[in-house]
Amino acid sequence: MTELWSSMVRRTDPYIPGEQLELEGLIKLNTNENPYPPSPAVIQAIQEEMQRNLQRYPSPSADELRDTIAESFGFSKKNIFVGNGSDEVLAFSFMAFFEPGKPILFPDVTYSFYPVYAKLFDISYEQISLKDDFTLPAEQFFQSAGGVILPNPNAPTGLYKELDEIERIVKENEGRVVIIDEAYIDFAPKSAARLVQTYDNLLVVQTMSKSRSLAGLRVGYAIGNEKLIEGLIRIKDSFNSYPIDRLALAGAKAAMEDVEYFRKTTAAILRTRERVIKQLQKMNFKVLPSAANFVFIQHDEWEGHAIYEQLKACGILVRHFNAERISDFIRITIGTDEQMDLFLNELSSILASASPVHP
Ligand code: PMP
Repeated sequence: MTELWSSMVRRTDPYIPGEQLELEGLIKLNTNENPYPPSPAVIQAIQEEMQRNLQRYPSPSADELRDTIAESFGFSKKNIFVGNGSDEVLAFSFMAFFEPGKPILFPDVTYSFYPVYAKLFDISYEQISLKDDFTLPAEQFFQSAGGVILPNPNAPTGLYKELDEIERIVKENEGRVVIIDEAYIDFAPKSAARLVQTYDNLLVVQTMSKSRSLAGLRVGYAIGNEKLIEGLIRIKDSFNSYPIDRLALAGAKAAMEDVEYFRKTTAAILRTRERVIKQLQKMNFKVLPSAANFVFIQHDEWEGHAIYEQLKACGILVRHFNAERISDFIRITIGTDEQMDLFLNELSSILASASPVHP
């Protein structure tokens, strides 16, 4: 701590992202990236853009990309905001729609960036306890003082909440903004995006980082009533006119357009997920029902951290959260079939060879 820091820096408690090790041969199943590369059309679009106008600033309004995203949802550009990863979209949303002194609600087990933003922007919050099985008690999110934010599917549990319950939460928070963070929605049954037509207090946030294989490009977006989008644009234009560079604009547009590739890679991940779940259950893991590109698992005879450490020693990186209620669990991103076979093999040797560590 230094006396030169502002009160904002002093009160912040920064988010710690998953390890980004670049070791050769490492099987990286810890940050829910897509194991498949982006569509070849994305690479081509970026290469073409590189030949063009990098000496010029990108479009501050990102019109073309917003048009493309809007079209894919049957909305207009006025309903779409784009940002530098959905993390930036979420941060701007906290600034645009939540207010100091009016507590917001989010689950006790959820994306750990929410309390970070809340502290940074001085927004008080109440964490609603998920039920024992980690399902969401929807009615406890009704009538919030300052708004609601929750991921659907939730992270890191992977649990999906049915759309009619999400709609109830939105309805029961009239006059306050409800943000549904849909980072993993393309691996789940149904998006809340269409509800934006009915509810002017709903903001749906999605990302290109997971289902579109573009975590490295940093593009996320929000879908909402045009007044909400206008609010986000006001924040962006008070912060950075060009948060999305030319290469990202071109690549993200191409990714949105290549629907066939998106469907193919998403379907492959879902097939692998179901196969991996069955195998893990055979090894006596408890696997929470996953609607995401990861599984959250626990073994009665093993500490989550011990499994994490042993896998890491074999060159397989998964995620362990040293947090209340979930420290027995590990979260495993679904990789390719080949990666998951290696993971399952190592995991079964770990279970077989060492003496269990009881939680
Ligand atoms: N929301 C949730 C629930 C996430 O897990 C993540 C990924 N860490 C994000 C948002 C942010 O993703 P990105 O900034 O890559 O779009």
